[in-house]
Amino acid sequence: MNKCDEPKKGYESLSASYRYWAEREPGRAQEWKKKFDWALERAQQYADRLGVDREKVLEAWESDRDYWYVNYYQESNQPSLEGKNVVTLAEWEAEGERLYGKERLEWKFRCPACGNVQTARMFKDAGKDPHLCYINCASRYGLGGRKDCKWTTGGLLNIGGRYVIDKKFVPRLIFEFADKENMIYGV
Ligand SMILES: [Zn+2]
Repeated sequence: MNKCDEPKKGYESLSASYRYWAEREPGRAQEWKKKFDWALERAQQYADRLGVDREKVLEAWESDRDYWYVNYYQESNQPSLEGKNVVTLAEWEAEGERLYGKERLEWKFRCPACGNVQTARMFKDAGKDPHLCYINCASRYGLGGRKDCKWTTGGLLNIGGRYVIDKKFVPRLIFEFADKENMIYGV
């Protein structure tokens, strides 16, 4: 297929995928339709929450999607934002700067499990990826006060942090800024 013939990324490409499968496997058309509708509804939820057009969300998701829409659109990839602490990347960046200034290496994050306060600088100085500072407890690497905390936002218990919606409209669960109160277990 010539690139010019490809449907535009967004509603157009998603509905083209759905129609392709509905025609190819009419016996399961209901199933394909259900997933198509789910994706549209979820995109609408994100759009409403973030104050953007649904097409903008679909455009980002469809540009990111490089496999079957039926597998791509699911709760673990586009989790419901209902009842969650959600901010946009721009809001999060503004808040970080307000709290700690422009130097991101000095931004402080708090592990929600043990209360460890950590910065990207700590990770960098220890030769670790600085981005780990808001998803993994520093004590995993022998940094910070506690030595026995293995907390990560990649674990099964997705609580105790906040979701930052990145430019692809994907929510990333990260630790809260240290100077906010969101402790779940206490120190
Ligand atoms: Zn911890």
